[in-house]
Amino acid sequence: MSPRPFDAVVDALRARASFIVTSHARPDGDAIGSSLALAFALEHLGKRVRVVLRDPVPAPYRAFPGIDRIEHLSAVDGPADAAVLLECSDPSRPEVAGLDRYFLVNVDHHLGNTMYGAVNWFDESAAACGELVADIIDALGVPWTREIASHLYLALATDTGSFRFGPISARTFDICRRIAETGVEPARLSRDIFDSFSIGRVKLTGALLDAMELHHGNRFAILEFDDDLLARCGASIDDTEGLVNLPLAAREVSAVALFKRQDANTYRLSLRSKGDVDVRAVAARWGGGGHRNAAGCTTQGPLADLKAAVVQAIEDALR
Ligand code: 5GP
Ligand code: MN
Repeated sequence: MSPRPFDAVVDALRARASFIVTSHARPDGDAIGSSLALAFALEHLGKRVRVVLRDPVPAPYRAFPGIDRIEHLSAVDGPADAAVLLECSDPSRPEVAGLDRYFLVNVDHHLGNTMYGAVNWFDESAAACGELVADIIDALGVPWTREIASHLYLALATDTGSFRFGPISARTFDICRRIAETGVEPARLSRDIFDSFSIGRVKLTGALLDAMELHHGNRFAILEFDDDLLARCGASIDDTEGLVNLPLAAREVSAVALFKRQDANTYRLSLRSKGDVDVRAVAARWGGGGHRNAAGCTTQGPLADLKAAVVQAIEDALR
């Protein structure tokens, strides 16, 4: 009988000595927290670990331990016994070339994971990939240091939007209880995560909401920005993480789309929703994915046509 997926992943990590730990491009708190928590744990066992993420760490998360050790690369080579992909529904999500040369360990909580690894542990009931990493660290017998606890908190607090959405469970709060027991201060970590933005970010918040479009009787909100708006606000792309959630603060808003113009005709689309409204299905129409309440894709303009198509697609999701 083959081992359970979880045991297969833990055995694969235990049996190997050197790792590349990576996660998706444009990393969020779960990608960063999961990667560094696992890296610290593997190093505790005397293993060699490189952490590779294609893109920079959002500014508020840069105070967390070990951020400086992240290698920002779009291709990897060199010896390693395995590459661990966290938070990646398919092997292209890191946008890092060369990963396919390694023994791949796939640990993820995104519906639609393609099970691309040599070993795979996929659990969509986790509120953050960090919950899965916490279980792996326990199975490896590594005690939770403050560094590990801080990164698990970063993963959980961000992927649940401060414990407001996703499959939050007793497991989520049990992990939080153990994080607090290490002596880190959750309130202080939350301040670092949620209240450490630039003035440019706060101004950008105002500009985005001022220009918000509403559809379907205020149930669907559209936000958009480009480099010009960022410059006018004194903000950078680093300042945009999480802004898509803002309109959901209104009771009647059930879905939001945020369009980020990448170049003349290419847009990144971030989608968020409340409750049963499935935006993953909307993102999937343009080749993207994610979760029911948080999804994304990259697609082509013109913007007016794209918006009209998304408004139409959201109408189905709201039904
Ligand atoms: P975000 O809007 O923060 O970029 O992404 C929200 C969620 O959708 C995340 O869980 C992310 O993994 C997923 N996601 C975003 N863009 C893509 C994409 O292009 N493809 C897939 N498969 N998932 C995406
Ligand atoms: Mn996640």
